[in-house]
Amino acid sequence: MPMTKDDIKNIKLLLDSPKQIVIVPHKNPDGDAIGSTLGLYLYLLKQNHKATVIAPNDYPNFLKWMPKESDILKYDSQKNECDDLINKADLIFTLDFNALNRIGDMGAPINNSSGIKIMIDHHQQPDSYATYMYSDVSMSSTCEMVYNFIDMLGDKDLIDADISSCLYAGIMTDTGSFRFPSTTSNTHRIAGDLIDRGASHSEIHNQISDTNSYDRMQLLGCALTNLKVLPEFRTAYITLSQNELNKFNFKKGDTEGFVNYALSLNNIIFAAIFIEDSQNNIIKISLRSKGDFSVNEFSRAHFEGGGHTNAAGGKSNFDLKTTVENFISILPSYKNALKNE
Ligand code: 5GP
Ligand code: MN
Repeated sequence: MPMTKDDIKNIKLLLDSPKQIVIVPHKNPDGDAIGSTLGLYLYLLKQNHKATVIAPNDYPNFLKWMPKESDILKYDSQKNECDDLINKADLIFTLDFNALNRIGDMGAPINNSSGIKIMIDHHQQPDSYATYMYSDVSMSSTCEMVYNFIDMLGDKDLIDADISSCLYAGIMTDTGSFRFPSTTSNTHRIAGDLIDRGASHSEIHNQISDTNSYDRMQLLGCALTNLKVLPEFRTAYITLSQNELNKFNFKKGDTEGFVNYALSLNNIIFAAIFIEDSQNNIIKISLRSKGDFSVNEFSRAHFEGGGHTNAAGGKSNFDLKTTVENFISILPSYKNALKNE
């Protein structure tokens, strides 16, 4: 659903005079969520709006190099200040998610605010809470969409080196460094333009990928030891218990990308990682696939989640062992889909 000319005209009118604006990424924000919100934030600041990025909670350290990252407020630790800003907002941008249950406790205040809501997102099956929706599942990333959004407003020239770095980082992380099928020639053209505008691609790759701690490498070793393969379903999965996470001093973001090792196995088209979260009493699940097998549909049907065709997340309220047993027991009903790929 690209934006209509009328939508753009209306948004342009709204942004014509300084506004109080809140920008929101999803809970447990990733590179695309933080890159897109900061990119849009920096653009809006340049136009003299009073903007604030409010993240539902904290994010991994490997995202904390981004320009103006320290301006981001966190709803779970700065609730009063955030509620005030949300109440007063003329405009609320929601980025990189499409259902208010993706922002946890922030869902209610955002829903109750009289601020005009603008969604920019590339996930499947959007809810309809926003007045203006730029929702396009064919897009590689929300960052690519923010670039398009600024372009549609006629302001491409305002995309400076800082904005470029944020947007490049999100495109890079959401495309698995330009390898996932969602990457198009246009994605590359935009990435190229962002480099021309000052994004330092090599530095950004280093900041995001080459910040492994020794603990994280040991945790990866543990995850790979736990890797199981179910060849008859072309499926592989990894488990990590809370004890294992504790043993290697787990920090937010440490398990990012682990599930891709399972998917990289020869002849595997469906991969999962099950991570125990004792604090919230859930098992957090990440799902990945190759080809047409939709992990978005799979997660919606069985694990209260969703996402994209080839990358989705979800959760389970059962313990780790039961969750894995349930997962395995579901697979036979997908045998044809998994075989026919
Ligand atoms: P990840 O496995 O990396 O956490 O998430 C993969 C993709 O699925 C991301 O695009 C993410 O936004 C989405 N996603 C992750 N968890 C959930 C969830 O619980 N619900 C929905 N609807 N999407 C999710
Ligand atoms: Mn995204």
